[in-house]
Amino acid sequence: MATKIVELSDALSNKIAAGEVVERPASVIKELVENAIDAGSTVIDILIEEAGLNKMTVIDNGAGIDPEDVPVAFLRHATSKIKNEHDLFRVHTLGFRGEALPSIASVAHVEMTTSTGDGPGTKILLEGGKVLEKTSAQSRKGTQIEVSQLFYNTPARLKYLKSLPTELGNITDIINRLALAHPTISFRLTHNGKPLLETNGNGDLRQVIAAIYGVSIAKKTIPVSAESLDFKISGYAVLPEVNRSNRNYISTIINGRFIKNFALVKAIQEGYHTLLPIGRFPIIVLQIDMDPIIVDVNVHPAKLEVRLSKEKELGQLIAQMLKEAFHQLQLIPSGEISKKQKLASEQLQINLDQIREPDNKQSQHEPEEEPAFFEQPVDSPRKEPRPLFSQPEIPSYTESPEEEDRIREQETPYATESDAMQSIVSETVKEARIPKMYPIGQMHATYILAQNEKGLYIIDQHAAQERIKYEFFREKIGEVSRELQELLVPIVLEFSNDEFIRLQEQKQKLEEVGVFLENFGTGSFIIRAHPTWFPKGEEEETLRAIIDEALHAPNISIHKLREDTAIMMSCKKSIKANHYLTMADMEALLETLRQAEDPFTCPHGRPVIIEYTTYELEKMFKRVM
Ligand code: ADP
Ligand code: MG
Repeated sequence: MATKIVELSDALSNKIAAGEVVERPASVIKELVENAIDAGSTVIDILIEEAGLNKMTVIDNGAGIDPEDVPVAFLRHATSKIKNEHDLFRVHTLGFRGEALPSIASVAHVEMTTSTGDGPGTKILLEGGKVLEKTSAQSRKGTQIEVSQLFYNTPARLKYLKSLPTELGNITDIINRLALAHPTISFRLTHNGKPLLETNGNGDLRQVIAAIYGVSIAKKTIPVSAESLDFKISGYAVLPEVNRSNRNYISTIINGRFIKNFALVKAIQEGYHTLLPIGRFPIIVLQIDMDPIIVDVNVHPAKLEVRLSKEKELGQLIAQMLKEAFHQLQLIPSGEISKKQKLASEQLQINLDQIREPDNKQSQHEPEEEPAFFEQPVDSPRKEPRPLFSQPEIPSYTESPEEEDRIREQETPYATESDAMQSIVSETVKEARIPKMYPIGQMHATYILAQNEKGLYIIDQHAAQERIKYEFFREKIGEVSRELQELLVPIVLEFSNDEFIRLQEQKQKLEEVGVFLENFGTGSFIIRAHPTWFPKGEEEETLRAIIDEALHAPNISIHKLREDTAIMMSCKKSIKANHYLTMADMEALLETLRQAEDPFTCPHGRPVIIEYTTYELEKMFKRVM
């Protein structure tokens, strides 16, 4: 029996669309605040009750809506933002589908008051997508929209919601992202009457970072920028000593839109290079401007992923930019952060933390996860030693709590503060040097203990040698005039069919690291010479390892192949733990380490040196209070 085809009513199709656009309170907030941004607002107030389940209000000072357009805005596919296909590929606004308002209105109670500033404003009430009332209303320029009883008519949706703290966490994430993407807009987020976030909208991205992640984090960022024909990048990158266990603190913003793109995350990690321990991620905010035609935002309304047509170029630009930025910093231990300073500066984050469930901590922005290394409160009795990681000592800004408060205040001219911060960063960076260390002895045949006037150092001998060797090999492998050593007996290596075929394509790359493959019958290569830096007696093994590298990462760049080879070689040839060293060995090792370009981390990003300052020791022994 044929079933009859019928057109769905608007109410029903809006409800279906709402399933995609309005998943949870945070999606409503995202849509409403994005509309406020698109309307050119400079101040946006977001008031939430019960994590948005009771009520959400967004008040803006944007363009407002003309009285006759108000009901139209709630129609499906009604938008003022694009008119034709041409516009679709040049979208400058956050919204353009015209789906949000009708979708939200179909699953909640909505009350909107709006005015363009000329003539009377409009107030409209909707319930389940139907207009209940539309009247003239006195109103200042801008729009206020109140959404209550979300999902009152779709109980199944309600069931999918998580606990209040989780839902609220999602909302704060959205606002954080929007605030990072729009430093010129002042955002105020209030939950049950309590302020959660406030940015001052003066355009200084570092101040937004301070508002979201805390002043102490903001102080540990450096400005970065780069430009190419297609892209313009600017932002702030946190010093590697402050890092996190997940990628949620990596913010990439393209043309004012917070996006997620795996290739860009990889590029950022690549830019941090060996400076971050394995499995740790930076805090970074990059604003990237490009011709909108390169970005395809039309992937999914609720998703953040975008496709970019010049992803690779952009990735290279980012990685290069970060490498250069960190290269310019010479590396010294981080400043201590006093407990009170930490408390004052990150109060907001701690507040947020308290309203979240413990099991939610791993999701999204974990506001107060302890950074890997530093930032233990100085006066904690069991303070752990700080690895002499690698960063310039940004003078530890020991403002009084009052001073900190002053900085936080929106009205105060914090801009000068952040300028001062910047100049201090660059000054100290140049002076910083690793101090000369005198060995005291060896512990467990694994660690070198050393001292100087500043304090006590513990050096991981294996990590130290890895770093030294890594830099040696990196240079050797990259050398243009590579010296080759003829083999007395050429080496013949056999490979499976598919490996043999794949290696034909890798030949040129391998030559760049000094491996010359000559075809030698089916499935075999003959090698007649090798670079002089190959370790004696391990020529075949080394060749195999490098070829494996190229085989298993066929798209590896020459640069990366060199680097991976250097890392592999450094690890292989380094003195292991449980190896006795004489005083002279130790002196030599410490001295060579000092000469290293980056003596503070091994090529895998683990710390090489841990420091106890004399002051810390005195504190531990209660010689000073
Ligand atoms: P879209 O944002 O995709 O255009 P929406 O359903 O979110 O679709 O909004 C429909 C229209 O309503 C917008 O195109 C805009 O013209 C108008 N609008 C919505 N919110 C606001 C606001 N806060 N200020 C001014 N105009 C708004
Ligand atoms: Mg919209």
